[in-house]
Amino acid sequence: MARKTEQSRKLQKRAEQLIPGGVNSPVRAFGSVGCDPLFIVRGQGSHIWDADGNEYVDYIGSWGPLILGHAAPTVIEAVIEAARNGTSFGASTPAEADLAELVISAFPHMQKVRFVSSGTEATMSAIRLARGYTKRKYIVKFEGCYHGHSDALLVKAGSGVATLGIPGSAGVPEEFTQFTLALPYNDICALDQTFEKFKHQIACVIVEPVVGNMGCVPPARGYLEALRAITAHDKTLLIFDEVMTGFRLAYGGAQEIYAIKPDITTMGKIIGGGLPVGAYGASSEIMDLVAPLGPVYQAGTLSGNPLAMAAGYATLSYLREHKDVYSKLDKLAGEVVAGVAAAAKDAGVIMCHNRVGSMFTWFFAAGPVTDWTSAEKSDTEAFGRFFRAMLENGIYLPPSQYEAAFMGAAHTKQDVQQTIAAAKQAFAAVHA
Ligand SMILES: *Cc1c(COP(=O)(O)O)cnc(C)c1O
Repeated sequence: MARKTEQSRKLQKRAEQLIPGGVNSPVRAFGSVGCDPLFIVRGQGSHIWDADGNEYVDYIGSWGPLILGHAAPTVIEAVIEAARNGTSFGASTPAEADLAELVISAFPHMQKVRFVSSGTEATMSAIRLARGYTKRKYIVKFEGCYHGHSDALLVKAGSGVATLGIPGSAGVPEEFTQFTLALPYNDICALDQTFEKFKHQIACVIVEPVVGNMGCVPPARGYLEALRAITAHDKTLLIFDEVMTGFRLAYGGAQEIYAIKPDITTMGKIIGGGLPVGAYGASSEIMDLVAPLGPVYQAGTLSGNPLAMAAGYATLSYLREHKDVYSKLDKLAGEVVAGVAAAAKDAGVIMCHNRVGSMFTWFFAAGPVTDWTSAEKSDTEAFGRFFRAMLENGIYLPPSQYEAAFMGAAHTKQDVQQTIAAAKQAFAAVHA
């Protein structure tokens, strides 16, 4: 079966004349998987269609936001209704407090929240706030964790940076990252040593509590507890970057599952229901440092945008009323991950997998994958062959070894069976 690609290819050629690489976010260019990118024209539930009319089971879900699937009626209706009243006012609207209330009720440590327009803005603002609160300069992040593309955080940043194999980014002066300390994930010793060396100088530790951006990597037993204890001891703020995991792993995110209270939580993706939103929240004591109440400046022309608030509200209220969705996702994701792993084993393909709830990655490595050093051992050529074969068989996976795949509420048993059948064929191709 030869998949038609003529229209997507034509659209890519045109886009390349106008937009760097033809894309507005690097991994979309499919550079690391050796084939042409798809141009998507429609999505419905768990399926998408490209410009050539090919249909795929989608495991990207817009990189996480679409936990309810594509064009979920509740979200689409909310957006249309909001749009009829106007798309933006640059003034407060009632919808902002509505969404704020839902978000705050999901996270016990949070008393106030500020909405921005992307995850990048959320983490960048949270770091500024942590520095403003502690009056300290240093920040700790972990290798392979991605927190958006602000200067100080583009250090060993996983995601697209890792996919493209670039160490950081050109255009970021060394001086801008001199206060960023990047440590290996899941390594309590490295953390202890750093806190010893930089005693009372570290403003915050920012972490993906379950990493998605080097592929899915869960925290080792006791790791998040240690992080919490070490930061509390030094009066350093702990920031959980739950842009990906918030409302994804559980309604209350990774912090609900692992029962840890961070000081600041950053969010995005699902809370915008597919529209551009980010947010950061904390106790009133911390949040009241943000302008206009306090000296930490942060603003946004389109922050709290009414369409985005409506899409987020529709998504979160659906999830709140259907919390059984998380056990359904866990079960279905467990089936697809195990089914594909079994197919790999039968075919003699070296592969391991990580999964937490509906977030998962098949690594082409012997494993276990517990940090960036072990993730990096993956055979990305083999992944590329697997990716292309899956695409030929109607399965759309993230086009990088170092990104998590997502199961959504719209996925079906039939999708899972189709995926496992496709994988059986694909593993023959990986060997070829
Ligand atoms: C996606 C992501 C971001 C960045 O969000 P954008 O909306 O792409 O700016 C930050 N942190 C994590 C953990 C993410 O997964």
